[in-house]
Parts: sequence; C-alpha cells; structure tokens
Amino acid sequence: MRLGTQLNALSPQEMDRMRAAGRLLGQVFDEVLAAVAPEATTADLDRIAYEAITGAGAKPAFLNYRGFPATICASVDEEIVHGIPNHVPLREGQIVGIDMGLILNEFYSDRATTMPVGRVSPQVARLLRVTKECLQRGIEAAQVGNRLQDIGRAVQTLAEAEGFGVVREYSGHCIGRQLHEEPQIPNFVGREMRGPNPRLVAGMAMAIEPMINQGTWKTRILDDRWTVVTADGLPSAHFEHTILVTEAGPEILTGEHPSLQEMELDTV
Ligand code: MG
Repeated sequence: MRLGTQLNALSPQEMDRMRAAGRLLGQVFDEVLAAVAPEATTADLDRIAYEAITGAGAKPAFLNYRGFPATICASVDEEIVHGIPNHVPLREGQIVGIDMGLILNEFYSDRATTMPVGRVSPQVARLLRVTKECLQRGIEAAQVGNRLQDIGRAVQTLAEAEGFGVVREYSGHCIGRQLHEEPQIPNFVGREMRGPNPRLVAGMAMAIEPMINQGTWKTRILDDRWTVVTADGLPSAHFEHTILVTEAGPEILTGEHPSLQEMELDTV
C-alpha cells in the first residue's frame, strides 16, 4: 500500500517474506563471520557468502548492482563502505566491515557487521561498541508515531557524545521489493539534512545503518570508484540491520551481531 508520496507499508504476507529473507541473511552472516581471522582474505569471505546465498536458493543483492563485482562489501580499517573483496590476508588488529544483501522470493534484506580481526586496540574496540550501540538506539527510535529523523538524531547524539564523526554522504534506506527505497534514513539531523521527515507507520521495512568514524565525518572515494574511506585515514565502523516497524515496536529481521565482549578486545 502506498502511503502519500513516500511511505510504503507492507501487507502481512509481504512482511512474512521480508522475515524469511532476513532470517536467511542472518544465517549467512553467521557463516561468514565465523571465517574472519588473521590470514583469511576478504575474497575467501566473499566466496563463503556467495555459496551460502545461492545454495539456499536466494540471490546476492549486491553482485552486479550498478556494476559492483562481489557478493559482499568488505571495508577494512579506514574504509567505511563499498570495499571490494581482495586476496590480501587480514591481519591481527584490523577491523573488517562486512555489508551484504540478498533477495529471497522477491524481497530484499540488507545487513552489515564490523568484526575485529583477532585482538584490536582499546580505541578501536570502543569505536565498534559505540557504533553497535548507535544502531541499537536508531532501531529503538523506529517506533510507530515517531518521525523518520528521530532515528538519525538518536544515532548522532550518541556518536558525537563519544567524540566520533557521523558519516553524512551515505545513509540508511527503506527496503522491500527493491534494495534502496525512499525515503533515505540519514544518521544525522541538522542544517545539512533537508530530507523528508514523515511519521513512521506499521509495515515499513527499513535498513538502519550508522557509519561512524573515529575522527572526521568527511570521506573520499578511492581510484577504484567504489571504496569510501575516511578523509583523515582513521578507522570507521558500520553496523546495519533490516527491521520492520510494527505496532509492537521495531522487529529486527537479520539475526544478531556477535557479542563484542567475547572477542578479546584487549590491548594489542
Ligand atoms: Mg543498506
């Protein structure tokens, strides 16, 4: 059902298909994240993802999307989003942001998790914890009757209180029969943010995805024309879930991010 010019509310049957797509993506993530370790390559992770998605009868959502050459985006350290998998072994102390989507039964799901590779520094550990918490706060703001920009306000308030930069140029988005549906869901509010600010309704499906930088929010794009990096070269983290807005509150569809507590986030 189209609501006004912007909002798309799913039927109960469509919501069930979103749930199935999200559940499968959560399972694929479990497999891919279990393979993150020193010496693994992001090309290895990409192959695991491709085989798990296609083996389950689904399709990778990013592969060939606007020409993107892989199933996952893999963004290491200062890379924010849209990194292309490669054959460079990961090293202890790095972080790798894995962003992946799939299509199951005509519906999309989309998620990102940033993983430590072995042990990481306390500063990087804090960036991961805060970014994950930013996603949680953004999701909690996705309540029927709240406004769209309440999500970005919740993300930005926490990130900036911790002294981190909130990426401006890339945003979350609504999702359903397409990967990117309107309206976008920015992670910030304020003067630069002039998008729509509708009230949220039950049946909206959204991908909420804070991208938080240890330093400046400013970005640039590498010569490969895909990889977005921080302008100052400091690390960046990215967490994303696909959710449904329901009368009972936001419902996370894409599994659970691994606990960061169990990841030995000690001093290297
Ligand atoms: Mg997304």
